[in-house]
Amino acid sequence: MKLYNNTAIPDDLLEFIIKEAAKAIKPRVRHGNVVVKVNRAGERCSGFAERCDYVAKSWLSPRRYKGDHRRVKTDKGLIVLRVPKAGDPILWDSHLWREPLHIASKFFDLCLHEWGHILDFQKGERFGDYNRRWANRPHERRAECYMEEARERGLSQSAQTSILDLAVHLESEAKGELK
Ligand SMILES: [Zn+2]
Repeated sequence: MKLYNNTAIPDDLLEFIIKEAAKAIKPRVRHGNVVVKVNRAGERCSGFAERCDYVAKSWLSPRRYKGDHRRVKTDKGLIVLRVPKAGDPILWDSHLWREPLHIASKFFDLCLHEWGHILDFQKGERFGDYNRRWANRPHERRAECYMEEARERGLSQSAQTSILDLAVHLESEAKGELK
């Protein structure tokens, strides 16, 4: 994976969880040369995947590569992921979606979904039916299936650890232990 991290979350934490999600997808998705851009989000995890062979460096990390016209090669696809900050610890009981472990777990599911799209790009599957509602598009259904099947098989110990590690980081951010 070629990670472009535009957040204050350490690279190794993001690489760990995103790779573990790739490993949980069956059949196997090639993750080595897929470009992954991670940004901060507002309230919820969100993202998308695009079929492409090259991505502009300056778009991947505008601050670091401003005016840089080079391109980055990718293996059939690009993933963009957005991870929110955990909310105020006082509200965690009543606002579950701002709670660190919930966010980390949702982020893992999001990664599974987007890796599902990448697998389809690599397999040359058909995409389309954009006139249908999001949830009824065949490629979105397939991505949801890859995600659900991975969850049903049960997560490996290291996948679970990667979720916990991200949650711990989000928690310490929220508690102001980090700058
Ligand atoms: Zn999707």
